[in-house]
Amino acid sequence: MKALKRASEVYWNPMVETLPLEKLRELQLGKFKKIVQWAYDRSKFHRKLYREAGLEPGDIKSYEDVARVPKVEKAMMRDIQRKDPFPYGDALCVPLEEVTEFRQTSGTTGTPVYQPDTWQDWEWWSEAWAYLLYAQGYRNTDRVFIPFGYNIFVAFWAGHYAAEKIGCEVVPGGVLDTEARILKIQELKATAMMATPTYVLGMADTAKKKLGIDPARDLTIRKITCAGEPGASIPSTKQRMEEAWGAKVYDHIGATEIGAWGFECTAQPGGLHVNDALFLTQLEDIDTGEIIEEPGRKGKIIITALDRIAQPCIRFDSKDVAEWAKEPCPCGRTFRIIKGGVVGRSDDITKIKGVLIAPSAIEEVVRSIKGLSNEFEVLVTKKGDLDDITLKIEILPEEEGNRESILNQLRDQLRLKTNLGYNIEAHPFNSLPRYEVKAKRFKDLRKHG
Ligand SMILES: [Zn+2]
Repeated sequence: MKALKRASEVYWNPMVETLPLEKLRELQLGKFKKIVQWAYDRSKFHRKLYREAGLEPGDIKSYEDVARVPKVEKAMMRDIQRKDPFPYGDALCVPLEEVTEFRQTSGTTGTPVYQPDTWQDWEWWSEAWAYLLYAQGYRNTDRVFIPFGYNIFVAFWAGHYAAEKIGCEVVPGGVLDTEARILKIQELKATAMMATPTYVLGMADTAKKKLGIDPARDLTIRKITCAGEPGASIPSTKQRMEEAWGAKVYDHIGATEIGAWGFECTAQPGGLHVNDALFLTQLEDIDTGEIIEEPGRKGKIIITALDRIAQPCIRFDSKDVAEWAKEPCPCGRTFRIIKGGVVGRSDDITKIKGVLIAPSAIEEVVRSIKGLSNEFEVLVTKKGDLDDITLKIEILPEEEGNRESILNQLRDQLRLKTNLGYNIEAHPFNSLPRYEVKAKRFKDLRKHG
């Protein structure tokens, strides 16, 4: 007889994850008012920002009023760094003695931003990750392998603690090299893993070529949580990872300044749930600033972490662009879904030959062509007044016989999906750079002449 599945076996927080949207809104509004008041009372930075906008915390009475609260951008946080109290500046809402965690942003552009957290904030970080890991099927029977060393970046610290919170057994594989990590996974029969898409693919390559291990056949990893890059939300990259490991691959989205605010569930609905319990996520029309509630219209993502207290994150402009999905998720969660996940930052989207393009669109095409390796590189240069775009790829040795048809397919798909023509260079297999953790495959050399 099939056992009845209780709600407690599906959701981390069965009550809140199935609340109707209007109840979630009430919960969010109550918490939003509280965090704005908290910041206004304790942070010089926020008080000044709100006073200049003519806003008092008491002015927020309805959900519509949320949009009246001024937004915060990363550059503003960068400006207050290293000022008093050192090194965080005057958005700090607790005495320095209460700060227990230091992290810094890992973005590839600009000076890093420092992020303080209290012990209570740290508990909140692991709670946010517990929602996401539980939604991805992590349970107390899992043995989770984390193939990274932890450092001043937040990545995987919270995943580690949340897995413990759920009751998983966690194996920190930080000091090992890639081959030793693979052997450890095999020896311990680990069932789950957290990694960047670049590393997930790189590990599978190393396993096959150096150790003769086929992860899908010889290892027991059956779920992989990705972070740090958009790959798990790019269908062709996700498929390559799932096939290489014989595992389900799930995406999540987060940022040091915000928290882990969105996740994919086991239903894999073609998008990410926003965590409506711990965050207030809104989409804003890029031109008019109007809040977008309806599906299918793209907007900038503005997020508030509703319970983070040391350095509050209120109406933070994430620079990500997204749209709401139309359909509810089969998993039964009422948390809204961002369709297709977050694959383009407004920072990353660039204009080439007059066409707007996100680098992830090129990745989607390259990874969808069977005879190509996982590696590629895009170079954008200027020839006179004209943009020139070169795509370097590698053809798999066993597919050399189909070279012409592979290149034609690639050219057609690129034209169709990105509306651009490319100089395609086929390089010998294994000659393009390999990346350990995060890849840098898109190089725009126009600004440097
Ligand atoms: Zn779902």
